[in-house]
Amino acid sequence: MSARTGKVQTVLGLIDPTELGTTLMHEHIVGDYTPPDRRPEPALPITMEERWQMDYEWVVMPGNVNLLAREVALREMQLLAKEGGRSVVEVTTPGLVLDVEGLKMIAEKTGLHIVCSTGRYTQQFMSLSDYGKTVDELVKKFIREIEVGHRDTGVKAGIIGEIGCSWPWTDAEKRSVQAGVATQKHTGAPLTIHPGRNADAPFDIIKLVKAEGADLTRTIMCHVERRLFSVEECVRLADYGCVLEFDVFGSEQSRHSQNVDAGGVDLIMASDGNRIMAIRGLIDAGHVDRVVISHDIAQRTRQRAGGGHGYGHIYRNILPMMRRHGFTENELDAIMVRNPARLLTFV
Ligand SMILES: [Zn+2]
Repeated sequence: MSARTGKVQTVLGLIDPTELGTTLMHEHIVGDYTPPDRRPEPALPITMEERWQMDYEWVVMPGNVNLLAREVALREMQLLAKEGGRSVVEVTTPGLVLDVEGLKMIAEKTGLHIVCSTGRYTQQFMSLSDYGKTVDELVKKFIREIEVGHRDTGVKAGIIGEIGCSWPWTDAEKRSVQAGVATQKHTGAPLTIHPGRNADAPFDIIKLVKAEGADLTRTIMCHVERRLFSVEECVRLADYGCVLEFDVFGSEQSRHSQNVDAGGVDLIMASDGNRIMAIRGLIDAGHVDRVVISHDIAQRTRQRAGGGHGYGHIYRNILPMMRRHGFTENELDAIMVRNPARLLTFV
């Protein structure tokens, strides 16, 4: 039992879980997601004529995944607060560039509760020295970022992950997942994992996590709508006891920029309507306590400032759409309030 037990750890300190309210479980607010071999990269200006294509090819567009501008991030979060947002989880993990002091400033100015993370992103984002780290070294680092804070900022993490995994899954990434589980056991924090881009990836990960003794009810599989393309597959994963995160709401492209621009294949990706249907299927199969949602915004072209849907899309468009499709207030409360609160509360 620690001071964190029964509390949620935000960038401004511990709060009671009842203070969270509606929560977006997977966002990037202020940080840089440009692959290290491209940094620093000057940003192309977003013009009306070019905006759509920049968004369509968002991975290769120079500067599009650099969200380090604090004043833009602040404005985006002010808009979210206006549209009903209360709490946001920033899942940017080291390897990506994370600005925890920017998050703190934004939380202070907006009144939003912001939870930041510890962990490690995919191998592509690891330095050579980072790549070789043992599980024990990683656990030590992750625990420090929860108990002491990031570097010398005093800003402490309230969630482990997104732990990044590629396909094929690399040994360094397996060690990150093992370290994530060990950190969960030691601290009682929730664990969230980004699976590689393959339908087998979530299952391979959940089997390892289970074998390592994770609490699956406190383990989130991210981006499921981009890995699993049928309700049956989603139910099969939920049957393990983990939480499925439909976290790319607002992205309605069938082109998978991360795949195609890396020389991979096109996928027929989920639209918001597909996401809602999959969630309906999970709830009908008895899994209402295993669903959370978000936007996973990591592109300037998805921010309001870049002409995108912004962080308020779920409030503005998706919750009304779910009500029109017959979701009950109790179901929406589970997805937006109760499940996030249960997950984010340290045990
Ligand atoms: Zn991710």
